[in-house]
Amino acid sequence: MLWLFLYFIKKFYPSLHKKINIIKLPEIAMSDEYFMNQALKEAQYALDKGEIPVGAVIVCNDRIIARGHNLTETLNDVTAHSEILAITSAANFLGGKYLTNCTIYVTLEPCVMCAGALAWSQITRIVFGAKDPKSGFSNLTQNILHPKTAVVSGILEDECKMILQEFFKEKR
Ligand SMILES: [Zn+2]
Repeated sequence: MLWLFLYFIKKFYPSLHKKINIIKLPEIAMSDEYFMNQALKEAQYALDKGEIPVGAVIVCNDRIIARGHNLTETLNDVTAHSEILAITSAANFLGGKYLTNCTIYVTLEPCVMCAGALAWSQITRIVFGAKDPKSGFSNLTQNILHPKTAVVSGILEDECKMILQEFFKEKR
């Protein structure tokens, strides 16, 4: 029956058939949202611990290979940003220091330290949610990243911003 249905759609509604094809496109963006949601989960763990809520996951072949959330207070370590922890964890998982063919999803734009570490890792893609107008790397320099690294911003931006606002509202 399905083929018959599709046949009629094709025959009588060629424009609708085209639309059906177009509808398939956002699936690519959907997976970015899926992984950003996982990064948001990590941010929530940070929030639960009283840390500035930033979370990250690293994905290789559509699989999460590392997770991290900000632990600067817990570890008394200014370098314990979610990205740094996730980079270390991903390298351990892969048994190599380079993260070529990997994407990092992070809820907040990486700082200069993390952008530098991501450059050393030669990561393929950086996807971040909210911009960081104060400490984001793009304010200071775009050139810090590896030339082959692609950057996508604004995935679940509102959700990523909201969790940070929640934290700072409580602090005030
Ligand atoms: Zn950082």
